Amino acid sequence: MTKPILIVGGGPAGLSAAASLAAIGQKSVLVEKEDRLGGAPILSGYAKLVPTGEWARDAIGGMVDRVEGEASIDVRTGQTVAEFAGEPGNFTAKLSDGDTVEAGAAVLCTGFTHFDSVNKPEWGFGTFPDVVTTTQVEQMISSGEGVRCPSDGRKPERVAILLCVGSRDRQIGREWCSKICCTVSSNLAMEIREELPDCHVYIYYMDIRTFGLYEDLYYWKSQEEFKVKYIKARIAEVTSNGERLIVKGEDTLVKRPITIPFDMVVHAIGMDPNIDNMLIGSIFDVALQQHGHIDRQDNYGGAARTSRDGVFVAGAATGPETIDDSINQGASAAMAAFAAAQGVPAAAE
Ligand SMILES: Cc1cc2nc3c(=O)[nH]c(=O)nc-3n(C[C@H](O)[C@H](O)[C@H](O)COP(=O)(O)OP(=O)(O)OC[C@H]3O[C@@H](n4cnc5c(N)ncnc54)[C@H](O)[C@@H]3O)c2cc1C
Ligand code: SF4
Repeated sequence: MTKPILIVGGGPAGLSAAASLAAIGQKSVLVEKEDRLGGAPILSGYAKLVPTGEWARDAIGGMVDRVEGEASIDVRTGQTVAEFAGEPGNFTAKLSDGDTVEAGAAVLCTGFTHFDSVNKPEWGFGTFPDVVTTTQVEQMISSGEGVRCPSDGRKPERVAILLCVGSRDRQIGREWCSKICCTVSSNLAMEIREELPDCHVYIYYMDIRTFGLYEDLYYWKSQEEFKVKYIKARIAEVTSNGERLIVKGEDTLVKRPITIPFDMVVHAIGMDPNIDNMLIGSIFDVALQQHGHIDRQDNYGGAARTSRDGVFVAGAATGPETIDDSINQGASAAMAAFAAAQGVPAAAE
């Protein structure tokens, strides 16, 4: 009989992997280091998701409910994998509580870490309380409290959203595009305008990457229906005049310096590699790619493969990914793991 599949990480990718295996009658053990499932959308309190507009607590919360209600999925929260040994069909994992789990294969769905804006000090985060991140604005909306200036609770009249904070920035070693933050920011800008119709919302950008079908749904809609203003600019610094925040930079279309006051400045933070990846790479003996994401070995024959036979990877563990793609990758990695656990060679071999 096939041993259970070990799934590490209970975000959208891991939940999808577990649910897919349950659907074909295959047992799994889902190990999540936090005390609840759901990954970034639940743990960070996201509001309405792109592109469906569903609340994260309903959409991803529904995935959590399905997994927790499934008898074939052994959920272990508050745990990590401390040791991992063996070969496809016959692995043993030792968990942080000392328990041992037998597994036929493993799927790493360990996701990403939000960029910490203190690493971009010139843009005011950590110095001025009204400089916040997109995750904080998501939480303001999802909690029902609404978008307010943290310093004194007032409704902002002018909000600037700065794109690419912790992405596409060679000076701080983040060369990648985080893929979803342009679209998420356009979406948040519309949500702010909806809640506070008198608030002026500006988005400062290098390029706009509302990729695929998101161009008209978010970029054009936010301008044409919600009157969000876009400024192509290079930002120098965020300071304060004692009353308001001041965003200084250069308008790169007209090549002139611009200095504009705001009540609130929002950093559209990027997706860093999971800070645990060095440890995960060493415990599972899988290679990381140059920026520290878990390396995928093959893009066409078996996209979920890592450098170790029988260990697969899905979702934002591989690099910036959307929820939809993470869910799809979780399902396909689960099927590859199921095959490997039964001794079927990976498709690319
Ligand atoms: C501000 C912001 C808003 C976003 N909004 C959207 C949106 O509206 N729509 C969209 O498509 N995408 C959105 N995204 C992207 C979305 O967050 C990711 O696509 C999604 O979270 C990836 O899912 P995942 O399961 O791969 O990883 P994660 O959600 O990161 O889940 C990984 C899980 O693994 C656990 N874990 C980590 N390390 C270990 C370990 N060592 N052992 C055990 N468990 C571990 C974590 O605790 C976590 O539960 C947004 C991103 C940001 C930054
Ligand atoms: S998606 Fe947009 S905001 Fe995010 S890193 Fe790419 S270009 Fe910058």
